[in-house]
Amino acid sequence: MGGKRQLLVIGPCAAESDEQLYATAKEIYDLQIPLHFFRVGVWKPRTNPNDFLGIGEKAFPILKKINHDFQFPICTEVANAQHVKLCIENKIDAVWIGTRTTVNPFAVQEIADALKGSHLKVMVKNPIIPDIKLWFGAIERIQKAGIKEIFAIHRGFAHETNIKYRNTPSWEIPIAFKAEFPDIPVLCDASHIAGNKDLVQEIAQSGINYGLEGMMIEVHHQPCNALCDAKQQLTPMEFIKLYQSLSQRTNPQESNLLEIQRGKIQHIDKQISQLLYERMATIDVIAQLKKENNLSLVDHTQWRKVIQQYSEIGKDDAHYQQFIKMFLELLHQQSIDRQTKY
Ligand code: PEP
Ligand code: MN
Repeated sequence: MGGKRQLLVIGPCAAESDEQLYATAKEIYDLQIPLHFFRVGVWKPRTNPNDFLGIGEKAFPILKKINHDFQFPICTEVANAQHVKLCIENKIDAVWIGTRTTVNPFAVQEIADALKGSHLKVMVKNPIIPDIKLWFGAIERIQKAGIKEIFAIHRGFAHETNIKYRNTPSWEIPIAFKAEFPDIPVLCDASHIAGNKDLVQEIAQSGINYGLEGMMIEVHHQPCNALCDAKQQLTPMEFIKLYQSLSQRTNPQESNLLEIQRGKIQHIDKQISQLLYERMATIDVIAQLKKENNLSLVDHTQWRKVIQQYSEIGKDDAHYQQFIKMFLELLHQQSIDRQTKY
């Protein structure tokens, strides 16, 4: 991969045991993967309290050894002041604020207060819901705590309409983030967006195409035995292959502008298709009700209201109005066809 070097944050999802951590780090070291941080979730924010929660602070001695033996700066997730205190005491290099924490300003403020005066570098993941203001607010709280080295991590958004990926990338959001904070590098957490190891590469490549400066990727020496996120973790060797397959843009400025607009279109189209589908499903419910109540298929007053509502948008654009007229005819016909099934 040519061009400017990506910031690499790699390592296992969770701290499972001393052996797992050391073996993973050693493989990364032996393969000479040029990482900037070795990531690992010491404490895991699991939805189900019975799932594996990470070995917690017991991981610090082996992380210290990994840092010493391989010269890997270490980063882990913090969700409260106690986590930050332990990271400072154990000389961890960087921490990240997880997606479920970024949504909570009280929690972010508690972390920011605990970070004051510390040496820690801080990475802030996007909130799990696509509310960019929460991301901005979290960054501002960390800046106000006096932290100088801050990174943002794009890890996608929980979204019920998403099918292919574990989390919806919504690329326009990290792009808008970069416009607001041009000096903060944004990393793409391709593993948590993808949710499946076969999809990590395409997400990592999109991150580069959209001009993101680095990537966070989960790597485990034996992904099939991982106690957390087994499906999405790569072996160090698989990571090397993925990394070598990525192409850096030679002219990021120009290609980014195009990619940004394409990203917007992709996002809009996804919403349109989802809404259209929901509209059809609602038509089916209406058809059923009409049948039960013996009502006629077409209600002209109702349809006039629909036309009225559509034509209020883009009133001054004659071409658009012409298109909407054709589109509505098709939509109406389709609704009637669907209702005749009942
Ligand atoms: C993680 O990086 O291990 C993690 C829990 O990610 P997220 O907060 O994005 O779900
Ligand atoms: Mn994970």
